[in-house]
Amino acid sequence: MVANAEQFAFQAEISQLMSLIINTFYSNKEIFLRELVSNSSDALDKIRYESLTDPSKLDSGKELFIRITPDRANNILTIRDSGIGMTKADLVNNLGTIAKSGTKQFMEALSSGADISMIGQFGVGFYSAYLVADKVEVITKHNDDEQYIWESAAGGSFTITRDTVNPSLGRGTEMRLHLKEDQLEYLEEKKIKEIIKKHSEFIGYPIQLVVEKEVEKEVSDDEAETEAKEEEDKSEDAAKIEEVEDEEDGAKKAKKTKKIKEMTTETEELNKTRPIWTRNPDSISSEDYSSFYKSLSNDWEDHLAVKHFSVEGQLEFCALLFIPRRAPFDMFETKKKRNNIKLYVRRVFIMDDCEEIIPEWLNFVKGVVDSEDLPLNISRETLQQNKILKVIRKNLIKKSIELFAEIAEDKDNFNKFYESFSKNIKLGIHEDSQNRAKLAEFLRYFSTKSGDEPTSLKDYVTRMPEKQKNIYYITGESKQVVENSPFLEVLKKKGFEVLYLVDPIDEYAVQQLKEYDGKKLMSVTKEGLELEEDDEEKKKREEEEKSFDDLCKQMKEILGDRVEKVCVSNRIADSPCVLVTGQFGWSANMERIMKAQALRDSSMSSYMASKKTMELNPEHPIVQSLKAKLDADKNDKAVKDLTLLLYETALLTSGFSLDDPSAFASRIHRMIKLGLSIDDIPMDSAAAASADDDTPTLEDTEESKMEEVD
Ligand code: ADP
Ligand code: MG
Repeated sequence: MVANAEQFAFQAEISQLMSLIINTFYSNKEIFLRELVSNSSDALDKIRYESLTDPSKLDSGKELFIRITPDRANNILTIRDSGIGMTKADLVNNLGTIAKSGTKQFMEALSSGADISMIGQFGVGFYSAYLVADKVEVITKHNDDEQYIWESAAGGSFTITRDTVNPSLGRGTEMRLHLKEDQLEYLEEKKIKEIIKKHSEFIGYPIQLVVEKEVEKEVSDDEAETEAKEEEDKSEDAAKIEEVEDEEDGAKKAKKTKKIKEMTTETEELNKTRPIWTRNPDSISSEDYSSFYKSLSNDWEDHLAVKHFSVEGQLEFCALLFIPRRAPFDMFETKKKRNNIKLYVRRVFIMDDCEEIIPEWLNFVKGVVDSEDLPLNISRETLQQNKILKVIRKNLIKKSIELFAEIAEDKDNFNKFYESFSKNIKLGIHEDSQNRAKLAEFLRYFSTKSGDEPTSLKDYVTRMPEKQKNIYYITGESKQVVENSPFLEVLKKKGFEVLYLVDPIDEYAVQQLKEYDGKKLMSVTKEGLELEEDDEEKKKREEEEKSFDDLCKQMKEILGDRVEKVCVSNRIADSPCVLVTGQFGWSANMERIMKAQALRDSSMSSYMASKKTMELNPEHPIVQSLKAKLDADKNDKAVKDLTLLLYETALLTSGFSLDDPSAFASRIHRMIKLGLSIDDIPMDSAAAASADDDTPTLEDTEESKMEEVD
């Protein structure tokens, strides 16, 4: 350790990750170069962006480049860039002491079969250097600080030293990889060229490779001999001497000169291709697109779909949009940067986190936009009101939706897409009123008639019986939970299909969607359910409403504030009763979702919490005999206990949770005792009574004995 070196310990998970990288057997090590080049490119993007508003930032070096230098004598591979560089604090924070969420997630992914090449996606690509190096030095200079050297041979710690020996970088970063004995192939020109071509061809800055070249040099005889000797000492094949006759004056002077071949270094640019988005789509192969996509996104897989287009006229820009095959591991992590669209102005990279360019629900779309009209020195503040940007945004949304429609033409692809991005589509429905109807075409749901394949709304409509006017749905926790719900009974009998909306975000999306193809979307668990009924059905219902009026009133009195009202209903066939919620309040499912979100303001919950209506099935024997009991004796005490039990079971079957499970349990236990003819009256009645005021007291129970229930 150098005298003025400061030592730091790696954050525990990073240390773990490094030993994993060093010790795992893994053959595809070449990806380290892609990761380091991509970091250099990011650093160049940053300084370029800063220089747009403050050109003096480039006083420390105007040329923006990435340079790879193999040093075969010392087995060191150097990757240098003239990017933004790192201050000492950046070095400490970015390379080792601050944990990133991706570190742990990457290790978990690896242990469940992921590949090391996925490292870039998890935001820890730098450490891939240890695939090939046993020691790494990072020499770096930021405009705001001195030049520093970060160094680590893994083993849990790194050092940072102020570079007083040769602080000559100007600005930027140099990564010096001391290659492991068995990784020296990465010093070979051919190998490096091949890797850059494969992974980094579309990087937007020149990638220079320092290559050794043989050059011929003419020297006099004597000189040649001494030089040749020196060269021979250095390396065997470095210099070859050829004897040549000096034709011009060979005869006159009879003096011989020699041409010797000498090694010098030159830089060669490896990525000379024009930016792919500026080329004619006809000249671009699908391999070109996928390798551009990979270098843009750090993805290890090909894209699922691509759209390459340009807009001309009032405003000019071209764009390239990609849909990945799967969602990133942190898609809905809120702190993460908002989008994946790189904004260029006339081929110059401007920024990759322009929030205005694409809405959040499309944050999974990756690509580039290159505008001819925006000013180069545009600032974040002026972007917000920029009209040009608004038009670009509108177009990106439109084209993305077109792209979804293209994906939907192939069922397998669409299933893959929907599995990964259905939440985004639903978020889009929630937020984008203009495109809501178009996006609704992409929804897929299981239903009472769907079988194994989820159905689209379009297909649902084609199956609607003539008399059915609305589209019915039920929301809930899972397909399994909703498919046996009592709310489906009558609709099934009528042949009306019901969609299962079992993703929490469906609750939000459907509130905004409201209708499809002119048909109302109707929750089967909420008030105001319209079921087409004929005259006879209607007459019957009205009669029942009248004859059950007393029972309903009595039950409402017993249930008190637990329900808004009690009424008879035509929506259930086999169950005695259900609890429905108000049309504009929360459904039972929404209440469940909200309860699961801790820290929510409780005043909001009590305001929005579902107002429940208990609906009775007048055909059901339980309801009928309750009515009979009441008709016989207006003050029958058993009715109270049974009403509470009915209410509690309805809570469960209607998707709510019990407020007081122990009171419910003791009511059930009393029934079990009756069933088993156990006479001694509740052993825990005292406890139960204190837990819940409504639990019948000893006397209540003794009087009624509840024999009526069997
Ligand atoms: P990511 O690139 O996803 O942020 P990495 O592990 O590849 O993750 O890099 C970690 C961080 O180190 C970068 O975010 C950047 O701040 C810093 N860094 C890495 N390489 C460079 C470089 N060449 N120039 C400047 N900063 C760099
Ligand atoms: Mg990186």
